[in-house]
Amino acid sequence: MSRFWSPSIQSLVPYTPGEQPQVEGLIKLNTNENPYPPAPAVRDVLDQFDTSRLRLYPDPESALLKQSLAHTHGLNTNQVFIGNGSDEVLALTFMALLRQDKPLLLPETTYSFYNVYIDLYGIEARHIELTDDFRIDLSQYQQPNGGIIFANPNAPTGISVPLSEIRALLESNTDSVVVVDEAYVDFGAESATALIDQYPNLLVTQTFSKSRSLAGLRIGCAFGHADLIEALERVKNSFNSYPLDMLAQAVAVASLEDENYFRSRLDQVIATREWTNQQLQTLGFEVLPSHTNFVFASHPNVSGAELMAYLRENKILVRHFTKPRIENHLRITIGTDDEMQTLINYLQQHPKL
Ligand SMILES: *Cc1c(COP(=O)(O)O)cnc(C)c1O
Repeated sequence: MSRFWSPSIQSLVPYTPGEQPQVEGLIKLNTNENPYPPAPAVRDVLDQFDTSRLRLYPDPESALLKQSLAHTHGLNTNQVFIGNGSDEVLALTFMALLRQDKPLLLPETTYSFYNVYIDLYGIEARHIELTDDFRIDLSQYQQPNGGIIFANPNAPTGISVPLSEIRALLESNTDSVVVVDEAYVDFGAESATALIDQYPNLLVTQTFSKSRSLAGLRIGCAFGHADLIEALERVKNSFNSYPLDMLAQAVAVASLEDENYFRSRLDQVIATREWTNQQLQTLGFEVLPSHTNFVFASHPNVSGAELMAYLRENKILVRHFTKPRIENHLRITIGTDDEMQTLINYLQQHPKL
């Protein structure tokens, strides 16, 4: 702390991302990165990139990428927003749309970054408990609010809500913005982008970090009514006109063009997830039904902290949260088949399993 800091920064508690240690031979299952490389076309873009172009500023609108995303989702370009990772898109969304007089509604257990933005912007929030089986019950969100945000599938549980329940919420909640964070939607959930033309208060955020194997380039986006997108553009252009660099824009377009590669890698991650789920259950774990590239699991005999430490000693990193209700769970990213086999092997050797 320093007397030179702005007063509100003194009490700020920032988000803590999963660690990125540089350890030889580490199996990294802690930040939901994709184990496979991005589409081959991405390499071609980088190989052929004319570096003399880098002296110029990038397109501030990311117009080609907007067109490509609009085409992919059957939307107009004025219904698409692009940002430097969906974390930035969310930061701008909280500022542009969710600072209202009435409280923001969100799940008690969800992506913990939302609470950082809530504190940063001084937003009043009401946290709603998950059900006993860790689901988001959207009928509980039918109460006065200044906005609603949740992740679908939710993090770190991995459980998704069906589109019909999101539609029912939007039918009754017409006076505030509903933000659906679809960071993991490609791994098996139903996307709410299909509802955008019907509900002017729906904003959907997505990312290239997980399903498109591009976490290193920081590419995120939002889809919604042109009026919502305009609010995001205003705030974006009040912070940073060029959130996406030239390479990221070109690479993102190339990644969207290779649909076959995208689908085949998704299928692989999903198959490995189901195998891992089965193996963990055989070892006595309780595993929540996941529509993501991770599983959320707990064991009745061994605490989450103990399991995490044990795996860490064996050079496997997983994520553990010290939060009531989920402190005995581990969030395990789906890696390659070999990596998951190694994880299961070590767990089988644990004296209490
Ligand atoms: C990973 C993640 C994000 C952030 O993704 P980036 O685009 O890499 O910033 C947003 N929301 C959820 C729920 C996530 O898990």
